Amino acid sequence: MSYGTRVQAISQVTDRKPLPSKIPQRLEALWATDVFTLSKMQASLPKDVFKSVKNTILTGGKLDVSIAGAVAAAMKDWATSKGALYYAHVFYPMTNATAEKHDGFISVQSDGSVITEFTGKVLVQGEPDGSSFPNGGLRSTFEARGYTAWDVTSPAYVMETDNGVTLCIPTVFISWTGEALDKKTPLLRSISSMSKAATRVLKLLGHTEVAPVNSSCGAEQEYFLVDAHFAHSRPDLLLTGRTLFGKPAAKGQQFDDHYFGAIPERVQVFMQEVEERMYRLGIPAKTRHNEVAPGQFEIAPFFEAANVASDHQQLIMTLLKSTAKKHGFVCLLHEKPFAGINGSGKHVNWSVGNATQGNLLDPGDTPHANMQFLLFCGAVIRGVHKYGPLLRAVVATASNDHRLGANEAPPAIISVYLGSQLEKVFDQISQGQIEGSDAPGLMDLGVDTLPVFPKDPGDRNRTSPFAFTGNRFEFRAVGSNQSVSGPLVAMNTILADSLTWVADNLESRMKAGEDLKTAAQGVLKEIMDKHRNVIFGGNGYSPEWHKMAVEERGLANLRTTADALPVLKADYIEELFARMGVLTPVELESRFDVYAEQYLLAIEVEAKLVVSMAKTIIYPAAVRYLSELSLAIANAAAIGIEMDKERAQTVSNLIKLLMDGVSKLSAAMAKDDFDSIEEHMQYSAQTIRPLMDQVREYADTLEGEVADNFWPLPTYQEMLFVK
Ligand code: ADP
Ligand code: MG
Repeated sequence: MSYGTRVQAISQVTDRKPLPSKIPQRLEALWATDVFTLSKMQASLPKDVFKSVKNTILTGGKLDVSIAGAVAAAMKDWATSKGALYYAHVFYPMTNATAEKHDGFISVQSDGSVITEFTGKVLVQGEPDGSSFPNGGLRSTFEARGYTAWDVTSPAYVMETDNGVTLCIPTVFISWTGEALDKKTPLLRSISSMSKAATRVLKLLGHTEVAPVNSSCGAEQEYFLVDAHFAHSRPDLLLTGRTLFGKPAAKGQQFDDHYFGAIPERVQVFMQEVEERMYRLGIPAKTRHNEVAPGQFEIAPFFEAANVASDHQQLIMTLLKSTAKKHGFVCLLHEKPFAGINGSGKHVNWSVGNATQGNLLDPGDTPHANMQFLLFCGAVIRGVHKYGPLLRAVVATASNDHRLGANEAPPAIISVYLGSQLEKVFDQISQGQIEGSDAPGLMDLGVDTLPVFPKDPGDRNRTSPFAFTGNRFEFRAVGSNQSVSGPLVAMNTILADSLTWVADNLESRMKAGEDLKTAAQGVLKEIMDKHRNVIFGGNGYSPEWHKMAVEERGLANLRTTADALPVLKADYIEELFARMGVLTPVELESRFDVYAEQYLLAIEVEAKLVVSMAKTIIYPAAVRYLSELSLAIANAAAIGIEMDKERAQTVSNLIKLLMDGVSKLSAAMAKDDFDSIEEHMQYSAQTIRPLMDQVREYADTLEGEVADNFWPLPTYQEMLFVK
């Protein structure tokens, strides 16, 4: 890294032109062209085969494996007609990544000729070696078999890249003993567990026809775009996805002038291509806009069934990164790429519903009279209160710690925001008498030519980690880099537990002679008596709330991953996952091991890089400047002029402090005698991280002292504002 690199990057970026923008095609012409959709299956499969597949996909009926051969043949014909020579079982290991192993359709015949072949057997089951994926002790290398198995409920698609076309088949990834090694298996289990419990409640409420209940998910993805020339001249961005050094620019986001502003042309062309690719893959891209920080953007698809939404979310992350590359950007999905500038999250909008009763979290216009809604909403409240620490644990990563528990949205304390209308209804429940709910009312803007429109019954609260937003909950603590699967598993599982409790409680009350309405009110009152402490409508960032939440409400404030992850090992969490049939104790423990290991590794890599960048990039630049400065002072003295020596002293001092900080950090990193992984995590959080911050502080101060033309790293100003 040298000054030259930075200068070169600046001139290269200034010369950039947006890629030519294509005339957008009609949505109908693009939509799902790269997906093996139900209608394509219908056109190419024998009637009975199609009926069977459709039944599994739409109503969760058991998969009849004997139809796999016919489906595989049709799938291959379609994929090869799109130019595919390879197929891949796509799976989602515990690393938040997407993994795929490619195999050719090629089959060599005995006479040496080749044909394309894709059998039912290889559609249904694959055996990627994959033994290098972290598995938390679920597989030892001598018994390292891992299998992928076809998930028929998430559609197959072709992925076109510059390297050709591949048929991609979403799969689960399991060990040879059947343990889940991935993020999809528990998600599917959590949905069926929740469906069972929800069905019991709906039947008790008098519904005779109840379709399987699914959960829905719409995830808003925030990200940063930085020009590739800048990103590539910063080892920290390259290796860790965030800047480990960098002085805030004179202008940050104070003006809010980026938020929802006009989208820069280069970015607009990039977004257009991302959306086109999403449409072709059947991903319903819906909104896009500039976010609060300069260089930050958001993309949100329309919501879908949780399993499909989760696969699509992984694809969105892949598309953002690969398309950014084409347009000369690097897409940063890290939660906090720039200190002092807003971080990126992923708001996971989540609800539950089915084909017969619709969205079960839709309150309608008169929520107080909607017993079904109140019971489902009450069940969520109970779950979030009982298992708040679990919700914190599933969003715990080294990178997300820079948002949660730091001075940034949302807080690490998990509370529920209901909005004024619902909060009042639940207050009435507490008092034992449901009287009514505020009518939504009309909003009159006082100008005759403007429309009068209905006012939302509750305002929004941006500071809540878990907010009711009209007909769903929005879990805002999820990291921008994360798979949405873990959070969805947690929400579905705690809801399954709560709904089971609701059903048991309703049943025993009705057995004891209560009518349905009295029983339901009794259940709701019990929920409020025990769990109202989790409901909070105020400012989630305020120090008063942090104090009150912990001291008066008894809520946990797990600030770091080191504090939060061990929740996965708690008995009550192990019992929850086992009872709901989502994760066995062994599977759960393996997750703790994998996530803890990733946390330690992330901090280790960052700490090593802090040391090497400080020594080899920042120190040399500062010393060079100091020697020029000292020379000037000496030259001036030679002709009898006394120059201000203080600057030289300041710089020397900072250089010394920087290198002392580096020595301290290096010494601290040498420690390796920990009694447990929990102790090691605490050490990383409490000792290593603060020492890294200390080194950074001196380096950033130096950045403000050293002559700009000596500074080797692209600055915040350049990375955030030059487009
Ligand atoms: P915000 O105001 O929070 O920025 P957006 O409009 O950007 O809202 O995103 C809202 C997200 O919530 C979208 O992805 C939308 O599809 C999703 N959503 C809407 N209804 C539901 C639902 N019933 N279940 C899950 N997600 C939903
Ligand atoms: Mg949102």
